[in-house]
Amino acid sequence: MRIKEVMSRKKISDEKLYKELVSLLGPRKVSNKLVDLISYSHDYWPISLLWFLKGEIPSLPSIVVFPESLRDVVKVVRYAYDNEIPLYAYGGGTGVLGGAVPEYGGIVIDLKRLRHIKLYEEDLYVDVGAGTNGMILENYLNKKGYTLGHFPQSLYSSTVGGWISTKAIGQFSTKYGGIEDMLLGLEVVVPPGEVIHIKPNPRAAVGPDIKHLFIEAEGMFGIITRAYLKIHPYPEKRVLLSFASKSLADALESVQNILRRGAKPAVVRIYDKVETLKWFHMKKKAKGKIGTIIILEGDNVLVEAERKIVEEEFRNAEPMGEEPVRYWLEKRFDVRELPEYAPLGIVIDTIEVAVPWSRAVDLYNDVINAMRDIEGTLIAYAHASHFYPQGVCFYFIFGGIPPKGISATEYYEKIWEAAMNATLKHEGAISHHHGIGRMRAKWIRKDLGDATMELLRKMKNAIDEKRILNRGNMGV
Ligand SMILES: Cc1cc2nc3c(=O)[nH]c(=O)nc-3n(C[C@H](O)[C@H](O)[C@H](O)COP(=O)(O)OP(=O)(O)OC[C@H]3O[C@@H](n4cnc5c(N)ncnc54)[C@H](O)[C@@H]3O)c2cc1C
Repeated sequence: MRIKEVMSRKKISDEKLYKELVSLLGPRKVSNKLVDLISYSHDYWPISLLWFLKGEIPSLPSIVVFPESLRDVVKVVRYAYDNEIPLYAYGGGTGVLGGAVPEYGGIVIDLKRLRHIKLYEEDLYVDVGAGTNGMILENYLNKKGYTLGHFPQSLYSSTVGGWISTKAIGQFSTKYGGIEDMLLGLEVVVPPGEVIHIKPNPRAAVGPDIKHLFIEAEGMFGIITRAYLKIHPYPEKRVLLSFASKSLADALESVQNILRRGAKPAVVRIYDKVETLKWFHMKKKAKGKIGTIIILEGDNVLVEAERKIVEEEFRNAEPMGEEPVRYWLEKRFDVRELPEYAPLGIVIDTIEVAVPWSRAVDLYNDVINAMRDIEGTLIAYAHASHFYPQGVCFYFIFGGIPPKGISATEYYEKIWEAAMNATLKHEGAISHHHGIGRMRAKWIRKDLGDATMELLRKMKNAIDEKRILNRGNMGV
């Protein structure tokens, strides 16, 4: 669809829909302005950026609403249900797989005005509105002497509801875990407009844990309006370490042993040889090696014990000091690549997957080779950035120029196909934290299997019988 067509279509916009929603919510909370419809027609999916550059818009909503309370959200869900209108939840729009794209038009519900923050210091949790921006929440907690410990690279522009809905994870995950480890309870509006409230208790064995239904559900089961998240006292001490190992296998083994011994570094990032050149550029001795950066933080006594364990397990690697870690801390939220390279015709993206330790090196080699084998690829490299006693997440990055006769979309799809197939060959998880959205829908059945996929479809139909919520997502 070209922008010009969209503009002419817009003139015959859904006046009835607009009037009814204004009468429900008031004019300040409803927009059918073209600029808003276009802004909410996409998220941060790189392929939609490429389409945009060509003047194409994948799909346009009819209207955008900005609820300011739980009551508002209930009204919108009821209205969408009664009138069978597709309803798409929108947080910060930083999802990278098209999960928030309003494929079937209808209503986009932007949750960003739901942004209360209430701290419960004795019970160590925070009650927070689903639309709260990540950096605002973290700054607030820091001022009070706490941290959430959740630092996705999109921290400055993503929201709490988006984190839960995509099962997000942050750079300090090896200590603090992913959003699923932080979530104590939540409030969700489900069709036809019921409010589900799950209390913030330290643990509960009261039937199946319903809050898990909404983690990585990408807005398909309900609209999250608030969350109760665990917090931590602001770390007393921080230690920065870095090493250069001879091989990827050596570096991985060091981290595996650290975790087996019970130490929990906050940040661990192992770069392959290509990416080591970027992050260790100031260390000539690291060239041709595997660079690892580590941050330990928390109570002084524990951090010193962890330092000892880390240094012992990296005894065969060369210590590289604090400088590469300081450089990473300075640059870690710098995300210029995509907007800078895309207009030059370079297709770039990232693909994250998870795999047990025993298959980690093989999976890394196969995915990298598969991506490099695609004609047009200029570069393909990776780091491992989230670790568990059972395995690891690899984060692959590729960049290429589609060869003559192949469109950017075709090249992009070929690379994804290669990476997904190589991951499935090693029985890895096709996503570790970005989720499924539109982009990965093609492979979800291969990952989950027919029976699980069927169960997911039944759950969707039972909870959302009219299929108003995020219609078209995940291929469900
Ligand atoms: C530069 C960059 C860096 C990134 N780094 C990381 C990273 O380090 N770790 C990581 O995990 N991810 C990362 N991401 C991906 C993205 O930021 C996360 O997926 C994030 O959780 C999305 O949050 P959001 O508020 O922007 O959600 P959106 O993109 O608005 O929405 C994501 C999905 O959740 C649904 N949704 C949003 N809010 C709600 C709600 N209240 N109720 C129900 N459904 C809802 C949407 O419909 C959509 O399907 C990165 C993205 C970018 C662009």
